[in-house]
Amino acid sequence: MKCIFCAIPSQTYILENTDFYVIPDKYPVSKGHSLIISKRHFEHYFELTDEEAASLLQITRELKASLDAEHQPTGYNLAMNCGRSAGQTVFHFHMHVIPRYK
Ligand code: AMP
Ligand code: ZN
Repeated sequence: MKCIFCAIPSQTYILENTDFYVIPDKYPVSKGHSLIISKRHFEHYFELTDEEAASLLQITRELKASLDAEHQPTGYNLAMNCGRSAGQTVFHFHMHVIPRYK
């Protein structure tokens, strides 16, 4: 299986918990644009277990606190493209966390 998100080296993680890790997006659309990526390989949001869903909320809150401290954004977009027809290009779970600025 050739999956780029299964092959991201752990030294590049900016945050992690049991189920997820976070890296900066390679092509950021704003300062601090980050990806929360599952450690388990599956395609998208609708395949999350209940436990992973709780863990996702936890790391999302931690990432927000960290981005707030570092960049002081005034808002956020949380985005997931689920499926090719929705614009998904990497078929391994990830959520975009996009800080926004006035
Ligand atoms: P999506 O279109 O939702 O599947 O988003 C895939 C995202 O992954 C895009 O925003 C890419 O910029 C990002 N991306 C692809 N490869 C890498 C990588 N090696 N490191 C960080 N971000 C990546
Ligand atoms: Zn994968």
